Amino acid sequence: MNSKLIPYEDLKKVNAPYFGALVQRSKSVIEGGWYVLGKAVENFEKEFSTLHGGYHCLGVASGLDALILGLVAFDFPKGSKVLVPSNTYIASILSIIRADLTPVLVEPDPKTYNLTVEGLRKQYDKDCVAILPVHLYGRLNPMPEIVEFAKENNLKVIEDCAQSHFAEINGVKSGMFGDIGAFSFYPTKNLGALGDAGAIICKDSEVYNKLKALRNYGSEKKYHNKYVGWNSRLDEIQAGFLSEKLQDYQKVIDHKRNLATIYFEELKGIETLTLPAPAGADHVWHIFNILLKDRDRIKEKLAEKGILTEIHYPVAPNLQEGYRSILAGNYPISEKIHAETLSLPISTCHSEDDIRSVSNALIEILN
Ligand SMILES: *Cc1c(COP(=O)(O)O)cnc(C)c1O
Repeated sequence: MNSKLIPYEDLKKVNAPYFGALVQRSKSVIEGGWYVLGKAVENFEKEFSTLHGGYHCLGVASGLDALILGLVAFDFPKGSKVLVPSNTYIASILSIIRADLTPVLVEPDPKTYNLTVEGLRKQYDKDCVAILPVHLYGRLNPMPEIVEFAKENNLKVIEDCAQSHFAEINGVKSGMFGDIGAFSFYPTKNLGALGDAGAIICKDSEVYNKLKALRNYGSEKKYHNKYVGWNSRLDEIQAGFLSEKLQDYQKVIDHKRNLATIYFEELKGIETLTLPAPAGADHVWHIFNILLKDRDRIKEKLAEKGILTEIHYPVAPNLQEGYRSILAGNYPISEKIHAETLSLPISTCHSEDDIRSVSNALIEILN
């Protein structure tokens, strides 16, 4: 039936429309003779800042670094607790550990995969210093409520925006609710570089100045180290690529929202599916996932029909080999999500017809 292979993602196709422009950007960096933290980085930071209400922006080496630096900026006492969802990509939790803090896992709402204030309240105690909400799959957490809870309890909020570029609630974009917004531009993200890259946004000028030093060996003045810092610098070529692709960010979101709408139309009425809320400004569909009791078998059947899917993520953080002893405890909601979630193709490399083919194949298998 479906003779055409539908990949989960095809980055070559995603980046093909920018080919000429990216070559041009590379050339101007090579000829410019300045390769790390230069004009291209400054330009990208300005552009990203403008799109985020003029908040300060700093390019860094990766999304993980953006999270670590965002946490380190506040000098929390060593070992302090940070509330983080139990169902997330490992980087969110790893950043807390690498900042010498203690992750406290909070079970999500099983329908939205997001944090709730109720869940936060359950795990909160006086040793908590921050909340690290993850806008998983591109859907925003209920940030106004979470920020209110944080204020009541004197907690900082570091948003993991690796999957949520430009998602918004009432015009306020992801990363602008909390004290820090941490972004990843890993090639598969909605705004993807052609290598590793990340960014931090923040409103506070003091925090910004400190982070600016921290990313570059803790130095404000060359060879003078005010802080014990990091090397987490963004390079000029990636920054140039990001500026180029940034011009199209709305097109990417619109394309994905349209594909999500088609999934909702095609898949409605299938009871075995648990779908998040319909497309809206609070979701940018980095990932379109469904929950299936028989997930592994259905994934295989889809593959037999030439439809490739992914699992985000197959193992819950508390069950990961390297983390079991650190994250001891039972997290049944997260474990169920990890056991049942399946990510369907939703990329700018896919057409509306691709999405209909995926939907039809899925319905056929489920019947
Ligand atoms: C990708 C991702 C990160 C880490 O970003 P890198 O650029 O790979 O370091 C962090 N959190 C989430 C939720 C992610 O999806």
